[in-house]
Amino acid sequence: MAEIVIKNVAKSFGSFKALHSVDMTITDQEFMVLLGASGCGKTTLLRIIAGLETPTQGEVWIGGRRVDHLPPRQRGIAMVFQNYAVFPHLTVFENIAFGLRMQKLPHPEIERRVVRTAELMHIEQLLKRYSGQLSGGQRQRVAVARALAMEPDVILMDEPLSNLDALLRLEMRAELKGVLAESKTTTIYVTHDQVEAMSLADRISVMNGGRIVQNDTPVEIYRNPAARFVGSFIGNPPMNFIPAKRVGNGRWRVAGIEMDGPQIDRENIEFAIRPEDVESAGQGFSATVRVVEPLGAHTLVTCEVDGKPFRAVLDSDLRTAPGEILTLGPVAARVRWFDPDTQAAIA
Ligand code: ATP
Repeated sequence: MAEIVIKNVAKSFGSFKALHSVDMTITDQEFMVLLGASGCGKTTLLRIIAGLETPTQGEVWIGGRRVDHLPPRQRGIAMVFQNYAVFPHLTVFENIAFGLRMQKLPHPEIERRVVRTAELMHIEQLLKRYSGQLSGGQRQRVAVARALAMEPDVILMDEPLSNLDALLRLEMRAELKGVLAESKTTTIYVTHDQVEAMSLADRISVMNGGRIVQNDTPVEIYRNPAARFVGSFIGNPPMNFIPAKRVGNGRWRVAGIEMDGPQIDRENIEFAIRPEDVESAGQGFSATVRVVEPLGAHTLVTCEVDGKPFRAVLDSDLRTAPGEILTLGPVAARVRWFDPDTQAAIA
């Protein structure tokens, strides 16, 4: 069992708090993605789990063993970090075989694992090349192959596909997902790419300012953001927000229209809807079209509602142009509400 438990972990660099008390459990064989904007503390948290950074407080447990006092090599993990340490004077084969030779595995087994992981990462044709001669994206795949070849119980990856072009990235993403599920590895994967996060994760931890804001399945994070930040960070384009004013018990006025909403004793809250959950309808917000962007299957229309930008992803059959006025109705079941003070979702 390779469950990872992070208890009350914090990290300061001088007076700067990079991580505020983080608690998280990654269950055995789970694929956990740490997602957040640059500087939110993802890499710091991963480096603490790996043993490359010492936490200012807190504990890290892997497979029932407390490991925060142990050096990285005693933690039973494989890792792929941004500055992937691929040895330039060794061939690709020897780079991938490196950890396996340290483990003194028999030669045929080493050969088998090297070839298999190289094939998986589409670098089998490079096995005899010196790693110093490779492109950034090729080196990155060598680093991933080397980690996978170890067949570890736990693998930690920090933006392992960041140097690949879009198409290769898509392919590698699917390969990684397949192989890590098959090998029953517990994975923690850092990225700032939300599509990558959604596609890979069993659960996503969304981080902001050194804190975990929400830890949930990709669908939950997308459908039911626990905080305004999550709604604005996840989804492309992000959620629309409009101030809502109470007009009666459970009734709210939003950009000139009245609708049902939460029954709470507040004067002002915030209405939220995803651009995908808006339709051109007989009833809804009066929206002045500003920009029309055809995206193929859909058209992204940026409008002005109540004097603020409001985006809608509409069917591409809908013809519209800047200056026109559309009536945009939110899909009722998809409306969310937020507390403007705490920024938390209102149930
Ligand atoms: P990115 O996606 O850009 O890698 P990140 O979310 O991984 O960002 P971290 O690398 O964890 O962010 O950094 C979190 C914060 O801690 C940043 O503000 C960073 O400047 C700061 N930080 C990280 N390492 C150090 C260090 N060794 N000394 C001082 N500050 C640091």
